[in-house]
Amino acid sequence: MVSFNVANSNLDVEEALRVSEERLHLAKQAAGLGIFDYDIKRNIVYWDKQMRKFWGEPSESTISYEEFVARIHPEDRAARQEAIDCAMNPAGNGEYRAEYRVVNTANGAELWIAAMGQVYFEAGQANRLVGITRDVTEQKNIQKKLQTQRDEAESILKQQVAARTASAIAHELNQPLTAISAYSEVALHAIHNDDLDSGHLIRALEGCVEQAQRAGRSLHELLAFLQKGEVVTERLNLNEVIHDALSIVRNDGHGGFHVTLHLQQNLPAIRCNRTQVQKVLVNLLRNADEAMRAVDLPALTVSTKVQTMNEVNVALVIVQDNGPGLEPAVAKRIFEPFFTTKPTGIGMGLAISRTLIETNGGYLWLDPDTRPGAKFQFTLPFAS
Ligand code: ADP
Repeated sequence: MVSFNVANSNLDVEEALRVSEERLHLAKQAAGLGIFDYDIKRNIVYWDKQMRKFWGEPSESTISYEEFVARIHPEDRAARQEAIDCAMNPAGNGEYRAEYRVVNTANGAELWIAAMGQVYFEAGQANRLVGITRDVTEQKNIQKKLQTQRDEAESILKQQVAARTASAIAHELNQPLTAISAYSEVALHAIHNDDLDSGHLIRALEGCVEQAQRAGRSLHELLAFLQKGEVVTERLNLNEVIHDALSIVRNDGHGGFHVTLHLQQNLPAIRCNRTQVQKVLVNLLRNADEAMRAVDLPALTVSTKVQTMNEVNVALVIVQDNGPGLEPAVAKRIFEPFFTTKPTGIGMGLAISRTLIETNGGYLWLDPDTRPGAKFQFTLPFAS
């Protein structure tokens, strides 16, 4: 009776084992996994049907480790061997992971294989490596495609940054070069004139020197800004910066308009970078001057006041001209780099100006409802 029970329970165990092995086999098949068992002492690799399928190997026999390695892509052998050596180090945890290519001998296709396994040790010596392999060719191809797309996007971005930097430099140099060219013509004219007016000549050459020095300073500041990307700020009287910008524009021969100033007295100090705010104002004033060239009585109004925006007090600057203003289709694009409607324009003035104002903690925009005439506004933060 007793022996019958034992035999019966043995049968149960065998059946359970068979079912469990079947399940394992089905799961392995569903996952498309190959299995290998590397007998290190005997230098033999056992591999299952799925794995032989990856390699395109029809024979069911085992192979030597060297034969197995010879079927791995030469470029991937060293890295794979390093992973094996590392896993076989008794000081480690025996875990093995590697990715390598094999050429399927049946159809010549190149496959990417991901292998994972575990090294078993006996008396401190690695004696077996058992693991699974998976065909990851598709994932690898997707990864490669994504990498190529990322590389292309990065290269386009680099080109754009280079183009923008070059344009920003061109924008800084355009004005002084034009002025230097005009002063030089005056100087040449003075020299060629029979009764040489030395006063004229000296003023023209001084103009050249001053413009060249300004161009140098501008470039220096631009490069410092691009390299460091940080702004040195100070407490500033905004109304004073506006006066400075107006005199720069007038000295450049851009001041052929009537100016009305509505500057709020006792405006609290702002905290900004002086050169950058001045640069924005000069850009807006020059644009206004150029837009008002066709107007009989060109007139410009510059105002400052305290404005509450999102419950915070900021300084607001308004630059309004009586030129033709902007068509809605043009107005939509003026802050885009390289957008210009002028024959010799570069189209970077407003793009740079907006960046500079934002770098200083403010906003710059065009008021859309002011035609005829254009009304640009920007805000800047107060010092306290
Ligand atoms: P650029 O002056 O080199 O054209 P900007 O970025 O400074 O570059 O200006 C872009 C465009 O915005 C100009 O070409 C012009 O069409 C328009 N614009 C700017 N300011 C004014 C203005 N005050 N009145 C009319 N149009 C303007």
